[in-house]
Amino acid sequence: MSKKAIIIGSGLAGLASAIRLANKGIETHIFEANSYPGGKINSKTIDGYRFDQGPSILTCPEYIEELYTLCGKDFNDFETVEQATAFNYFYEDGTQLELTKDSEQVIREISEKLGEHPEQVRKHLQKAKKNYQLIAPLFIEKSLHRWWTLFGKQLAQALLHLPSYKLFSTMQKENQGFFTNPRTVQLFNRFAQYNGSHPYRAPAMLNMISHLEINEGPTLPKNGSIQITDSLVQLAKEQGVIFHFNESVEEILLENKTVKGIKTKEGDYFADYIVSNMDVILTYKQLLKNTKQPKRTLQQEKSSSVIVYHLGIKKEFPKLNVHNMLFSDNDEAEFDAVFDQKEIHESPSLYLYISSKINATDSPVGCENWFVLLNAPINEGQDWKQIVADKKKYVLQKLSDLVGEDITPLVEVEDHLDPLQIEQRYNIEQGSIYGNASNSRFSAFYRHPNFSKEIKGLYFASGSAHPGGGMPLALNSAKIACDCLFSDYSL
Ligand SMILES: Cc1cc2nc3c(=O)[nH]c(=O)nc-3n(C[C@H](O)[C@H](O)[C@H](O)COP(=O)(O)OP(=O)(O)OC[C@H]3O[C@@H](n4cnc5c(N)ncnc54)[C@H](O)[C@@H]3O)c2cc1C
Repeated sequence: MSKKAIIIGSGLAGLASAIRLANKGIETHIFEANSYPGGKINSKTIDGYRFDQGPSILTCPEYIEELYTLCGKDFNDFETVEQATAFNYFYEDGTQLELTKDSEQVIREISEKLGEHPEQVRKHLQKAKKNYQLIAPLFIEKSLHRWWTLFGKQLAQALLHLPSYKLFSTMQKENQGFFTNPRTVQLFNRFAQYNGSHPYRAPAMLNMISHLEINEGPTLPKNGSIQITDSLVQLAKEQGVIFHFNESVEEILLENKTVKGIKTKEGDYFADYIVSNMDVILTYKQLLKNTKQPKRTLQQEKSSSVIVYHLGIKKEFPKLNVHNMLFSDNDEAEFDAVFDQKEIHESPSLYLYISSKINATDSPVGCENWFVLLNAPINEGQDWKQIVADKKKYVLQKLSDLVGEDITPLVEVEDHLDPLQIEQRYNIEQGSIYGNASNSRFSAFYRHPNFSKEIKGLYFASGSAHPGGGMPLALNSAKIACDCLFSDYSL
């Protein structure tokens, strides 16, 4: 008789886990609390303007390709769009950088506009690439909690380069050592945002993230980020995965410290294996109330959250690219505000994404759909209604200054997403979008493993489990969880 698996949640790692399990011939069911799949990767259309609700920067598309290959499908079906410019950076003093996917152009642009020695920029980018290539196969693609899986040539090579990881330094300190202009330091510190961390505290090793955006460049799905959800749902269905929407899981049923099934309002469902794609902390708090909690893992500092403004603008601005970053002058104070004061700095940096530059049908003709993101603290009961209203004035002013025209009368449609909504909509502890923060050099080791040490048959695949948040890591979380399951049950 075929074995049965239940996945709790249809977020990215939930979908990827379902594809992998169904592909092994396991009868796989996904239970999703919402009426739609994809978790944070969903989309909303208002009066002809389509807004991606969650991620907009896709790196490492090869982890999606892996799923296509596994299912015997051609990854060319996942249509992407090439853009000459990868990212526009705008500074408070009027400096502008236009970075393409060509590393030599990037080196020239940074040295000409920010006065850095080209060799220093090249050295930094090469180091990021080398560290990424040495570290990713170990820290991102393998379980740190089944340490024997790490042994081999890759570990030996990674250990040989130990001094270059600057284990006792921070991202900011290492960047400051490399560059002369604080603007360049700010540019490279920004990559802490990729996992919701503080660049003045996060380990220097995380500087390797710049490799993904600067050396490799973001990938642009033709239909925006929702294409990721749509295509994985399609793969999952083709593999025979069965979806149950609007069915929140209320309890994981156990017998002799082994999973037996789940309880929902509709009844009990039985399974041999369970993969929780739900936030790890809430899996314990809500579904495993009588189980011993892994305290140290669950008490770690959380990553930051965001406020996103969705603005339908009835005009086009050719000066803007798909991805634009508008820096303010105070990066340390901005991150201190988020992590220490649990508030947003009075003049934070903004990230602006326009998906109608990729797909014209994402907005009415002659218009643009703007997604404007600010780093925000996790939800601790702040008055988000007030904060969202206050920051909106700042956002409109900063964007108007950028385009040299008052954009307020051009806003035809508007909506927003705040940390409380993120917490409630996706059932995420305090609305932190990347699970635990990476502000300590031990963070990677304190993330929850992809399996339960206490309960047989229970696995964890999500941005809140190892190796962490962000799409590439969540996809690996699913891969590691499934590999552990396959190895435990000799499948
Ligand atoms: C605004 C925003 C911007 C982002 N930008 C980027 C970016 O540019 N690049 C990037 O790589 N990443 C980005 N991220 C992070 C990225 O979206 C996540 O890391 C990724 O989507 C992984 O999600 P996940 O697999 O952990 O699942 P989630 O998206 O967290 O989904 C979990 C699912 O579980 C469901 N669920 C919860 N509890 C239950 C229950 N009891 N029963 C049934 N179902 C339940 C939820 O409804 C949800 O659908 C961003 C996130 C946000 C919010």
